[in-house]
Amino acid sequence: MLYSELASAFERLDATSSRLEMTSILSEFFRSLDPGSLRDAVYLSQGKLHPDYFPQEFGMADKLVLRAVAMASAKPYEEVEKLWIKEGDPGTVAELLIKGRGQMTLFSEPLTLERVVNVLTSIENTEGKDSQDKKMKQLFLLLRESGPVESKYLCRIVTGRMRVGAGAMTILDALSEAFATREGRPDVERAYNVTCDLGLVAKTIASGGMDAIRGVHVSVGSPIKVMLAERLSSIPLIMERMGGRCAMEFKYDGIRLQAHISKDSVRLYSRRLEDLTSNFPDVAAELRACCKAEEAIIEGECVAVDPSTGAMLPFQTVTHRRKKHGMDKAVEDYPVRMFMFDILFIDGTDMTSRPFTERRDKLAGAFELSEKIGLTEMEVVEGPEEGEAFFARALAAKSEGVMAKSLHQESVYRAGSRGFLWIKYKKDYEAALTDSFDLAVVGAFYGMGKRAGKYGALLMAIFDSDTGRYSTVCKLGTGFDDAFLDNLPEMMESHLSKGRPSDVDAQMTPDIWFFPAVVLEVVAAEISLSPIHTAAFGVVKEDAGLGLRFPRFTGRVRSDKGPEQCTTAAELAEMYWAQDTADGPDS
Ligand code: AMP
Repeated sequence: MLYSELASAFERLDATSSRLEMTSILSEFFRSLDPGSLRDAVYLSQGKLHPDYFPQEFGMADKLVLRAVAMASAKPYEEVEKLWIKEGDPGTVAELLIKGRGQMTLFSEPLTLERVVNVLTSIENTEGKDSQDKKMKQLFLLLRESGPVESKYLCRIVTGRMRVGAGAMTILDALSEAFATREGRPDVERAYNVTCDLGLVAKTIASGGMDAIRGVHVSVGSPIKVMLAERLSSIPLIMERMGGRCAMEFKYDGIRLQAHISKDSVRLYSRRLEDLTSNFPDVAAELRACCKAEEAIIEGECVAVDPSTGAMLPFQTVTHRRKKHGMDKAVEDYPVRMFMFDILFIDGTDMTSRPFTERRDKLAGAFELSEKIGLTEMEVVEGPEEGEAFFARALAAKSEGVMAKSLHQESVYRAGSRGFLWIKYKKDYEAALTDSFDLAVVGAFYGMGKRAGKYGALLMAIFDSDTGRYSTVCKLGTGFDDAFLDNLPEMMESHLSKGRPSDVDAQMTPDIWFFPAVVLEVVAAEISLSPIHTAAFGVVKEDAGLGLRFPRFTGRVRSDKGPEQCTTAAELAEMYWAQDTADGPDS
């Protein structure tokens, strides 16, 4: 397949913000590809050569790419850099300059997708002495054989700027439209959620259809999208929703780890699919030593503990383990304990379709427990009184709240989905005034007065999991300390967007836009109807969204959460209805 066909599909995707239109462009394109090319095309549409959980590092900074563009377009480097300062994106620079270069007749062999993938793989693997030069030259060779549009996307891919607006959900829609019936869509999504591998799903459906997709199972080594909990505002509401009886567990305040245990190694993944094995070598070793099975996939919350008393410490303590360097010391200084709460696979059996009680029994039987590895505290509770008593016990033990889990036969592990099979309830929820939200930064406003020359406030958004879009919920200017404000531009630099990102809905226009990536924890006094914010627009009232009043940053950057794990529109609406305010449901 020719690479130009893929680049032209990207160009058509870039020209629209309609998800329906993107789906139809992609499904038509996908149908025309053989399964192998389809897999690569799908990875490249996400700017990658591998599945989501594989950290993609081409190791090419903008200026290195500009050098390759200068050579391929036969322009002086200074001129290329000037254009880059104006345009901000090496892809656009390459497109403009290579357009002006005209046809290079010498290299008339058309560039295939296979060659592009091979060279990009080689760029990725080039290491050691002179690696920067070698990477640059390999890119130059590709650019020399590429037209303007092809060059644009090559430069965007190697600099991590590949955003054609077609996220994973749109790709799955398109795959279903191309190779399955509408009824097959949930199975396609399930296959993705249990493998986190869009390319694998694409190749499987194109070569084996829906039967092959239904045969996709969890496997050790491929992280699984985590199951998430809904929230309700009181224990009685939870008990009512659970039908009067449920399992309750302590909700520990640490880092969620998904452990893939094989015969002689263990890999630990965060809920964002980052490989954290090197941050928790002690946990990995202990899991292997304590696991009675040959292979297993389990989940648990890893919490920092006081070495002298064994008492649980706040979340901030365990984040010391997320450092890049000095891990040996951090392992010693910040001891942790893993509280396991689920098992998704054991010795050949996919447990994700088994009910909660069966999984919990299997988990309990699969490990010898130790000082470092335990099970979450759990009790079956009946009625609100028992629920409240368990909640009080959880707080006394320094947990942040409870997780209620359905005992229903249908309480399977729903990978990648948030639902009422699990309901969380935190201490914060007791007082509506301190409800906390996890919000994505989508814009910034320049500061004035004391904050002149810095960002003064941020535009924050929630995520709508039904539409895959972000919508604004507040302008956040409180709770930042000087160090945080000083560091903000650097923290946000790689997420800058030239205009409003195509998946963000906003009526407010900040001075700077960002692609949703960074998540901050925010508390607010109240959720109110808002004429300017677009969150849950039209859900509570026609022509109005929901906004946060008096929002304040708690100081906690949720680096463990991706933007798609922000507070959702449905949660926000639910919290709005639950609060007892003047503009509440009855007014
Ligand atoms: P939140 O991060 O507030 O959305 O709460 C959900 C998170 O609570 C999960 O992703 C886990 O990291 C964590 N958690 C703590 N204790 C438990 C538990 N017993 N069961 C499930 N998740 C838990």
